[in-house]
Amino acid sequence: MKSCRLFAALAALGIASMSHAAAPVLVIHGGAGVIKREMSPARDKAIRAALTQALQSGYAQLKAGRTAVDAVAAAITVLEDDPNFNAGKGSVFTHDGRNELDAAIMDGSNLAAGSVAGVHRVKNPILLARAVMDKSSHVMLVGDGAEEFAKAVGITLVDPSYFRTEERWQQLQKALKEDAEKSKHADEETAKHFGTVGAVALDAQGHLAAGTSTGGMTDKRWGRVGDSPIIGAGTYADADCAVSGTGWGEYYIRTVAAHEICMRVSQMRVPIRRAAAEVINQEIPSMGGNGGAIALDADGTIAMPFNTDGMYRGWIGADGVPHVAIYGDENDGTAEPLPAEASSASSP
Ligand code: ASP
Repeated sequence: MKSCRLFAALAALGIASMSHAAAPVLVIHGGAGVIKREMSPARDKAIRAALTQALQSGYAQLKAGRTAVDAVAAAITVLEDDPNFNAGKGSVFTHDGRNELDAAIMDGSNLAAGSVAGVHRVKNPILLARAVMDKSSHVMLVGDGAEEFAKAVGITLVDPSYFRTEERWQQLQKALKEDAEKSKHADEETAKHFGTVGAVALDAQGHLAAGTSTGGMTDKRWGRVGDSPIIGAGTYADADCAVSGTGWGEYYIRTVAAHEICMRVSQMRVPIRRAAAEVINQEIPSMGGNGGAIALDADGTIAMPFNTDGMYRGWIGADGVPHVAIYGDENDGTAEPLPAEASSASSP
């Protein structure tokens, strides 16, 4: 009886979850910052096909009764393997011409989490993040140590050249040229933080999970780590809410963006679409940052705010049909007005 009450109290705080049967939902993103005029029809088609495949792969896990964590890992693995996204193969280059990858995963049912940063030989960083969560007593491993651990637990390692694509290499050359010319508008001219991937899922037991994987930002230096692998910044899940972010990572770290959205949902009972919009479309831009996020609550309500031209995104729910969108003017079903009542948690 006592333990029951304790569990209910923890659940009310969003620390433990009371499982209930739910209609599974999976939401994914492939990065914010799409520039419409730069998208060729072929690329548009390839992105939509990859998002569809990722949704199908993740949703198959949920339909088979597996967990939200399984669905998130399956969907992200597909996007990491696709060179069109800035994660796994096709990751952006550092200033020194290397690929340094970051990823995180979090299980909202028990607040377990795993993350890796600065790895350069791990084919699927999301699977290593999951292994950190499941098979180590730690939450975050970086660099060579993370790769030692990968070897020990049988995670696939590849030669660093596996991640290279010509397009990402050319993006680095452009950024280096802009560095040299000290262009004031370098961030506008060069796509520095596009194409990160992420997923959030609700499983049939009513549990939520979130995951994110990225190559970071083009031209990053000095072992820079972004928000994606930082629990609470780019990735967070609890009993009531799951979030994966994409955008200018420094701002997501400073606002603890993913946790901030979930705290508004879990503690202040702010509806998820408003909570996500407040953080992504008000708080982050007010500081000079940009980007987007996907968010999901325990009722299966989806939020996908972004303040860039577009965000690669997709979702699948009770109808079992994958839906994908890229641009801001595409109806993604989340456009209805936010609840009118004023939020006690509105942005500064
Ligand atoms: N947020 C990522 C980072 O700053 C980049 C992205 O979302 O594209 O590393």
